[in-house]
Amino acid sequence: MRLTGYDEQRSRLVSYLKSLGIITSERAERAFLAIPREEFVPEEVRDQAYADTPLPLMNTGQTISAPSMLAYMIEALDLQAHHNVLEVGAGSGYAAAVMTEVISPSPSAGISHKVHTIEIDPRLVSFAKDNLQRCGYSDRVDVILGDGALGLPEESPFDRIMVSAAAASVPKPLTDQLADGGTMVIPVGGSSWSQELHLVRRSGNKITEKYMMDVVFVPLREDL
Ligand code: SAH
Repeated sequence: MRLTGYDEQRSRLVSYLKSLGIITSERAERAFLAIPREEFVPEEVRDQAYADTPLPLMNTGQTISAPSMLAYMIEALDLQAHHNVLEVGAGSGYAAAVMTEVISPSPSAGISHKVHTIEIDPRLVSFAKDNLQRCGYSDRVDVILGDGALGLPEESPFDRIMVSAAAASVPKPLTDQLADGGTMVIPVGGSSWSQELHLVRRSGNKITEKYMMDVVFVPLREDL
């Protein structure tokens, strides 16, 4: 098959992320190949949709994470079909779409539950919703306006939580809403230039927090 344009760029990006050992599972590979990233990035940066770099989300001061960062977080979460998943920081909706595709690749197979994603900026709530709807994910992803640091108690407990903005420390509501055996990936640290990606696990009442790598994320806002 001959690929052209965005399809070819998407396929190249996925091969690159595999060659770096960042995409390791077949499910993540399929998900990244299935989602048209160009549909989630603002029009003015569409030609860079498949560069492995963060991209600005209009004039909100927010950015969509680089694909390698997202792939790293997705592989660390080891998402399974039955998982109840929460994302904090919907942004463009791209990460939520990729996670949805990992846990339920076929919409016709029946939807048992949605991926929940919370976003604090109303403009980005609309942006994420529009993008997800255009790409056929609106019935599998729930975009909620709110402060993600508070989690989403009514839908908890969560087997997996992905936090897409950096907190000074892990917000307690999020660990409280993590299911027994659950996992969260979260950038932690007060500096805006460098934080640490942490893997947080709950086993009964015991919470463990493990350093994974140094990262740079936009800060988790606390101003709703
Ligand atoms: N995952 C997104 C990118 C996330 S960028 C994507 O795939 O496009 C970080 C996002 O977190 C921004 O959209 C920002 O508005 C949002 N954010 C920041 N603080 C937040 C908070 N307290 N609660 C929910 N969302 C927040």
